[in-house]
Amino acid sequence: MSEPRIPVDLLIRGAWIVTMDETRRIYRDGALAVIGDRIHAVGPSAEVEARVSAREVIDGSRFVLTPGFVNCHVHITGEPITRGAVPDDTDWEANVMGWLIPTYQAQTPEEERLSARFAALEMLRTGTTCFVEAGTILDLGAVYDGLAETGIRGRIGQWAQDRAFDPAEDQAALTAHAIETLQREVERYSCAGDPLLAAWPALVGHVTATDDLWRAATQLARDHGAGVTAHMSPDPQDPDFFLAATGKRPIAHLAEIGALGPQLSLTHAIFLDMEEVGLLAGTGTHVTHCPMTAMKGAYGASSAGLFPEMAAAGVQIQLGTDGNNNGNAADMMRAMYVTAGLFKDARRDSSLFSAYDVLECATLNGASGAQMGHLIGSLEPGKKADFVAHDRHRPEWTPLLNVVNQLVWSADGRGVHSVWVDGRRLVEDYRATTIDEDEILAEVEAAAPALLARAGKTVPCRWPVL
Ligand SMILES: [Zn+2]
Repeated sequence: MSEPRIPVDLLIRGAWIVTMDETRRIYRDGALAVIGDRIHAVGPSAEVEARVSAREVIDGSRFVLTPGFVNCHVHITGEPITRGAVPDDTDWEANVMGWLIPTYQAQTPEEERLSARFAALEMLRTGTTCFVEAGTILDLGAVYDGLAETGIRGRIGQWAQDRAFDPAEDQAALTAHAIETLQREVERYSCAGDPLLAAWPALVGHVTATDDLWRAATQLARDHGAGVTAHMSPDPQDPDFFLAATGKRPIAHLAEIGALGPQLSLTHAIFLDMEEVGLLAGTGTHVTHCPMTAMKGAYGASSAGLFPEMAAAGVQIQLGTDGNNNGNAADMMRAMYVTAGLFKDARRDSSLFSAYDVLECATLNGASGAQMGHLIGSLEPGKKADFVAHDRHRPEWTPLLNVVNQLVWSADGRGVHSVWVDGRRLVEDYRATTIDEDEILAEVEAAAPALLARAGKTVPCRWPVL
């Protein structure tokens, strides 16, 4: 007597499957079965097929399946709808203070909603199924509502900073307001029950948060099963400030006030010393590397960054694409490519950040940093059905000899054919299923000049545009 077949909702058979499971198994004729929002089985096609009876069967011979990518640092408002406005020859000060801050401040809630949906479209179309917002959302309610319709998984947060830079400001009132805001939003969009979308205490970071705000954010994250995200040390300004104010470098100071730990993801983390690297490794603090931003913004990740040392020390490095004016694309496959190459070249050492390593950064490490290691990051029974079907019928995927090399060094997000999140197909045959692509492209094209005009910015071009 043969075992009765288990009814499943979806069976994809005959595909290459890069599982990222414990032993990193790769199937060249694999099948993946889904029940509801979860993966039921992954294995050789013949074995899985014999055990299930599927409501829908997809021939996967055209596909390479991977876990969905986790983008751990992306600004989903402000920049997606002004992508590319900022010239690439502006320094950090001109970029952030001259361009980005005025643009963020000029946004309406409706523009933030549009921008968030547009960011979701770009991420889904390039294989990102889960993201962590970078901490610069002004109207969290509008963004949440806009994203909820898209089906993407993510963690978002209200813009939070409290340091009084002007002595006339009331520091205690600023801190109380920031903590109240974080608390309200984390309770309103709770992580409890692992919903697709929830709020984190997201700090702008750098030097903008007082110790009290850091401590409150850390406690809120621990109480609510959330994480904390913050920018830190993309250039020497943050270490200089902390040294002057506290006598310690930023990571050493954060260690002293109890803010480090596996709940925290620090983005950029370029200007560190080896003591700080040791503190990050020892506390399980995550570091989000945004290689495209570092390159475009001339941060010095390749010359000053200690990323190879962090990886060797055991720091879990995850990847982010940052803002659409800092790297300009939210394609995690591009971020993987740049990460794989940056330190090989800078250090003249080809052993650094192999294709295997960077795929771990974009999947498993990202899932862990997003506080969702138990849910996503690999294709295994019981995990959420968040996965990507890359299209093999393209020049960059042919011939298919080493699938991991191919994924990181040859392919990019434009070869993403289909994407599932929570068992739901959100991209099918290169088109989003939950977002009207023609409509949103037209809306963004119209919104960009209006927003930039309100921010008082005109987009320069060195050459005549006729
Ligand atoms: Zn950022």
